[in-house]
Parts: sequence; structure tokens; C-alpha cells
Amino acid sequence: MTQIFAYVPFKNGVAEDVALEFPGAAKKIDAGASVTAVVTGSGADLDKVAGELTKVYSEVIKIDNAAMAYPNAEVVRKALTNIIPAGAIVLVAHDTFGMDLAPGLSIKLESAYAADVVDFEGMDGSTLKIVRQELGGAVSTHVTCDASAGAVLTIRPGTFAPVDGSASGAVVDKSGDAGDLSAKRTFLEVVEAEVGEVDITKSDVLVSIGRGIEDEDNIEIAQELADAMGAVVSCSRPIVDAKWLEKSRQVGTSGQTVKPKVYMAMGISGSFQHMGGIKGNPFIVAVNKNPKAPIFQVADVGIVEDILEFMPALQEAIEAL
Ligand SMILES: Cc1cc2nc3c(=O)[nH]c(=O)nc-3n(C[C@H](O)[C@H](O)[C@H](O)COP(=O)(O)OP(=O)(O)OC[C@H]3O[C@@H](n4cnc5c(N)ncnc54)[C@H](O)[C@@H]3O)c2cc1C
Repeated sequence: MTQIFAYVPFKNGVAEDVALEFPGAAKKIDAGASVTAVVTGSGADLDKVAGELTKVYSEVIKIDNAAMAYPNAEVVRKALTNIIPAGAIVLVAHDTFGMDLAPGLSIKLESAYAADVVDFEGMDGSTLKIVRQELGGAVSTHVTCDASAGAVLTIRPGTFAPVDGSASGAVVDKSGDAGDLSAKRTFLEVVEAEVGEVDITKSDVLVSIGRGIEDEDNIEIAQELADAMGAVVSCSRPIVDAKWLEKSRQVGTSGQTVKPKVYMAMGISGSFQHMGGIKGNPFIVAVNKNPKAPIFQVADVGIVEDILEFMPALQEAIEAL
């Protein structure tokens, strides 16, 4: 039986949404696999998240050590190397921390490695069939991976359907097995992003603009649509880089994490760095001129249209209501 371990990231005692998506990914690898969650950290937050995860996983391994109070990939890699058995498959979120952790972990475990996995097409013997994205999502590649000596795979958050938390599992404390956790890298502090004049993290509806907005003057069109919808304008990174909107409006791995109910992606291609900032499984409406834009793979509604024509038309329709 395939042994699969899911390394679950969390913040302030709350597991990231990907915790509910790992079991779906594992099922696509091998429907009969045993799936164990692994959480690392220190103190009450770790205990809280480990307890919550027993509703999703039959076994949750916790590794509690003061050296892991802050997310230091070097230390976590050492601990996992001592806990994960040879030949296992390890799932890690394809986020900033996961990208730091996973490649080195595969080297330590002497197993295969594949990054930014968006789908699996099953296992044929020990050959795993993987779908991943390259060139910022512009192309999907179908690859095989020899998992006979195990594999470390980073899973793109938001791509596998979340499961319901109906398990009643148990926490297994393996803190004593983590080994020497001394590190060359020392984590100093977490610096929270500044909140600007508008807090996009609090809005239920976001009208989010990307490079497709084309010109700073066109932002007004998005703002008018947002006003009509009772929404707030957010954006992708190029809009901030161009200094058209302030950094606090940027959604993504190097911007804000948002949890709206509805996310209107206007002229946004759907890079993983952008999508990584969208949590809570919102209803995504994507409008893009390019029918092959990656955002359409995750959108609930996809509209192939020029946003500069679509947004005023939608605004007019909403105001007519
Ligand atoms: C370390 C790192 C961190 C990053 N962090 C972030 C982050 O936090 N957030 C983030 O967003 N990005 C981030 N990025 C950048 C990210 O990789 C992408 O480059 C960025 O998300 C692309 O933004 P975009 O979709 O607006 O632009 P593009 O990828 O250029 O896409 C524009 C889209 O608009 C469409 N379009 C053009 N004109 C129109 C029109 N008139 N009507 C309709 N559609 C139109 C195009 O077809 C295209 O799909 C990061 C990159 C790195 C390397």
C-alpha cells in the first residue's frame, strides 16, 4: 500500500485550506493509500491545529520543538527526514514555504521530486503520472515520475477538491524522533504587511484587476463596477509594480491573502503566485480575452471578453436591477 504523508502548513493555530485538498490529491495517486498528516511547530497553536486535523486524517503526526516555533524550512526538513519512512510519497503545498522546503527534502530522502502539481493520472506500478504547469501556467505538461524510492510533490493550493472533515483520527506525538534540529539559518521575526486605506481582506466581493486593465486611467472603470456591486478593488502584482494601486491591494503570495465569497478576476492570467493569495474556495468569475488563460482552469464562470467592454456593461446591468 502506498504511504502518503501530507505536510500541513498553518498560521495562528488554523490549518491552510490545502489541508482539506491533500486527501483528494492522495486519492488520485492511489485510492487505497494510507494518508497521514504531519504538522510541525511549537506550543498551543500546534496542539490546536493537530486536534482539528484529526477530523480530516485518521493519523496526525505532530512534531513539537521550540526550534520550529517560526517557519524555518531548514529545521523542518531535518525533522521530516527523520520521521518520513523510505519510499513514502510526501505532499507539500506549492507556496513560498513549500518551495523552500520540498526540493531539499527530496534530496535528503533520496526520492523523486515534482513541483506545482495540478492533477494526477494515477499510478502504474511505481510510475506516477503527473500533470503540472510550467512557464507561469502558460503550458500544462504531462510527466511520469519514478516513485519506486518515494517522491516529494508540491501541490498547487486550490486545484484539488476539498474533502469534508468527518474523520475521527488520532494525534501521534513524534517530537522525540525529530533528531538534532540545530540550524545554520536563524529565523528572526515575522513582519506583517501594512494595511492600507482599504482592507481587501475584509471584503466579501473583490473586483480584482490585472495587466489586462491596460492603462492607469481604466482603473476608474473597475472602481465604478465595484461601487455598483458593493465590492472592493484589488489587483495583481504588475498593477502595484506600475504604482497604479498601493501594495495593500495586491492579492498573492507576496501580497495579501483574501477570503472573499466572490472573486471577479478581470484581465488576470492566473499565475500560482496570484492564486496562492485566494483562500476559502470563493466563487471565481474570470474575464479574459485569451480563451487559453490559465485562470479559466480554476474559474467557476469563465467569460472570454474584453474587460474594458465587459465591466461597464455589467455595471449598467447591475444598476438597471
Ligand atoms: C517571487 C514572486 C512573487 C510574486 N507574487 C505575486 C503576487 O503576490 N501577486 C501577483 O498577482 N503576482 C505575483 N507575482 C507575479 C506573477 O508571477 C505574475 O507575473 C502576475 O500574477 C501576472 O499578473 P497578471 O495576471 O495581471 O498579468 P499577465 O500574466 O500579464 O496577464 C494579463 C492577462 O490579461 C489578459 N488581457 C489583456 N488585455 C485584456 C483585456 N482588455 N480584456 C481581458 N483580458 C485581457 C491577458 O490575456 C492575460 O491573461 C510574483 C512573482 C514572483 C516571481
